[in-house]
Amino acid sequence: MLEIKDLHVVVEEDGTEILKGVNLTINKGEIHAIMGPNGSGKSTLSKVVAGHPAYEVTSGDILFEDESILELDPEERAHLGIFLAFQYPVEVPGVTNKTLLRQAYNTIAKEQGREELDPLEFEDYVEDRLEIVEMKKEFLDRSVNAGFSGGEKKRNEIFQMAVLNPKLSFLDETDSGLDIDALKVVAKGINHLADEDKAVCLVTHYQRILDYIVPDHVHVMLDGKIVKSGDKELAVKLEDKGYDWLTDLASVSV
Ligand code: ADP
Ligand code: MG
Ligand code: MG
Repeated sequence: MLEIKDLHVVVEEDGTEILKGVNLTINKGEIHAIMGPNGSGKSTLSKVVAGHPAYEVTSGDILFEDESILELDPEERAHLGIFLAFQYPVEVPGVTNKTLLRQAYNTIAKEQGREELDPLEFEDYVEDRLEIVEMKKEFLDRSVNAGFSGGEKKRNEIFQMAVLNPKLSFLDETDSGLDIDALKVVAKGINHLADEDKAVCLVTHYQRILDYIVPDHVHVMLDGKIVKSGDKELAVKLEDKGYDWLTDLASVSV
């Protein structure tokens, strides 16, 4: 589904290199976790896949379903079925969650040749998706993220994912700032949505969420490169030993 090949990325503004040759393959039906210390480039990687304009790819390629997406803008990537939580504005006063989501849903549906939904049809459609994240219906009528607690924002992220039904989702630090109950709800939502046709990439500093979501593959990012990949045992080892034992690998070209 996604193939990242020797990807080098700089900050558009000042040319600083952030990603220094990332290789990553994600297949349908897989859950991946990208872990690593703060500042290693995890968020940059997910933003670059989503097409964030602050970054420039200087070499390498990103293929989605066998086609390079480097020339596509963020909207076009979303239409293909790539989802990055928080690609929507953090707070949008005056625009309800329902309106924004229905617009996003219909834009993608139209692009993919599926039926668009009117407001009533959309309410029906989202009903069981609200249940997945244990959200109340009134949530839909509130301004986007305005006055949402940290936990509600994260749940809303998973709700957006449930509504838009993307092929590939990047969830960046979805676990941070959640209490254990909210974390369980979010994890349940992700587990529910991950199926054989889709792929999920969890980007996280902490191992905590991986107690509830079992990844098929775990990657460690250090200084702009993936220096080690393994299965869920790697995450357990990281929890135990931290990242220091891997720092020697960062200086070795992989
Ligand atoms: P992580 O998510 O692993 O904590 P990031 O991808 O956010 O790491 O950042 C990696 C490094 O790149 C950091 O040193 C960060 O300061 C730098 N960086 C990321 N985006 C920008 C940007 N738009 N402008 C300048 N520096 C950036
Ligand atoms: Mg290289
Ligand atoms: Mg980050």
